Amino acid sequence: MSRLTATVGGGPPKPCESGDVVRRQTVFERHMPDARAVAHSLSDTDHRVFWLDGIEAVAYEPLQGGTRGDLTIVGAGHTGLWAAVQAKRRDPSARVVLLESGLVGSGASVRNGGFAESSLGDHGDGRRRWPHEFEALERVGLENLCGLERDICDLGIDAEIEPTGILSVAYDADQVRRLKQAEHGFWYDADSIRSEIASPIFRAGRWRTDVCVLVNPGKLSTGLARAATELGVVIHEQSAVTGVDTQAGGAVRVRTASGHVDSQQVALCTNAFRPLLHRARYLRASANEYLMTTEPLTDEQLASVGWRNRQGLVDMDTHVHRARLTADNRILCAAMHLPQRRFGYSFAPEPFTSLASSFMATFPQLEGVRFSHRWAGAIDTLNQSFAFNGLAHSRSVAHADGFAGRGVAGSRLVAGIMLKHLYGQTTPTRRGSVAG
Ligand SMILES: Cc1cc2nc3c(=O)[nH]c(=O)nc-3n(C[C@H](O)[C@H](O)[C@H](O)COP(=O)(O)OP(=O)(O)OC[C@H]3O[C@@H](n4cnc5c(N)ncnc54)[C@H](O)[C@@H]3O)c2cc1C
Repeated sequence: MSRLTATVGGGPPKPCESGDVVRRQTVFERHMPDARAVAHSLSDTDHRVFWLDGIEAVAYEPLQGGTRGDLTIVGAGHTGLWAAVQAKRRDPSARVVLLESGLVGSGASVRNGGFAESSLGDHGDGRRRWPHEFEALERVGLENLCGLERDICDLGIDAEIEPTGILSVAYDADQVRRLKQAEHGFWYDADSIRSEIASPIFRAGRWRTDVCVLVNPGKLSTGLARAATELGVVIHEQSAVTGVDTQAGGAVRVRTASGHVDSQQVALCTNAFRPLLHRARYLRASANEYLMTTEPLTDEQLASVGWRNRQGLVDMDTHVHRARLTADNRILCAAMHLPQRRFGYSFAPEPFTSLASSFMATFPQLEGVRFSHRWAGAIDTLNQSFAFNGLAHSRSVAHADGFAGRGVAGSRLVAGIMLKHLYGQTTPTRRGSVAG
């Protein structure tokens, strides 16, 4: 049986003569901080989603009894909420009912890092899997990101938008070479990246301002719910949908424990939760993403890091680490781990310890800063690493799956595609890929 052997250096895992798989050490493993300092940083951390602090929740009544609608939406995350807003904008007289099993935005939509990216899935994989559509997908993604900013503004949502873009950072010669070859964005060599953001492990960087904006996802969720209800959408919380079936006459019945809604169209926006369509259960694998925020940095601590342009950070080493500043100058850091439980997420301590260790390897000058919040969430990842949508029940039920950790902006686009499919409109690209 193979075992993993850590080595220093770049490149993919290589088999060695004994048949063992050789895995290179990540930069974070090579700069492992003192374990006691890591433990101290986590000693007073709450298991709580930072984005929910200070949010005044509006309570929506559970569904009781039977009712009718034109469109029923299941799931009040970003996808369901965007679908609701867009449906009412399209036809203000439509009766739109939104059913949520928990509370508005209790899923990934308030748990994420707030990186609203134009990319609609895993880039490397996307270019390989969709070679003919990839350029169009990139263009559609950029248009969607502009549309997201415009809609947030038009709907009067204070989502703390920061159009600061994304900065990819390299840690070794191979990553520096790959980053240098990239076409777009502002290039930083070793000296300039460290004067931009002071980390001893950064060796180069590339900053793209057009492909990412940062948002406060909690405020975006509650703002979208408010906008939807102002447009006339009826929201029911604590109303878990237990089944979807077609009635005689063509209406689709969506059932909860205490009621049902009959409508001509249904949009299933349940993301990484147990799918209501049997077929979708075989398509997906769920990963976990772990996030933490530090306590707010003092002016002196922030000055020791630099980061005056407040970009979102992504690492070229493992591609699973992201970091950003919040409005009150905490550092939020995140890492994804595969594979985890199939539906839902766990709160095992190890990923948080590993994340704190990576943080301290990146910013050793912040030793002593503690983490205030930690939380996790499930990422819906299909085997194609790219968002996917489809139709069922004689084209009356639309579903969207597999945002692969890129749904903050992508959910707006996919919601629009679901509605186009339900209302029989075609788009230039084919159904099945994200662009519908
Ligand atoms: C920890 C984490 C970090 C992330 N970071 C980023 C990031 O920085 N950038 C980015 O672009 N993306 C990120 N993502 C992904 C992004 O958050 C999601 O793709 C996006 O929020 C998906 O929105 P959604 O509405 O489809 O799903 P969700 O927000 O998960 O909403 C689904 C809703 O459906 C409800 N539901 C489920 N089943 C039922 C049922 N049977 N009946 C009624 N309701 C039901 C759930 O309660 C939930 O509220 C992250 C995800 C996680 C978990």
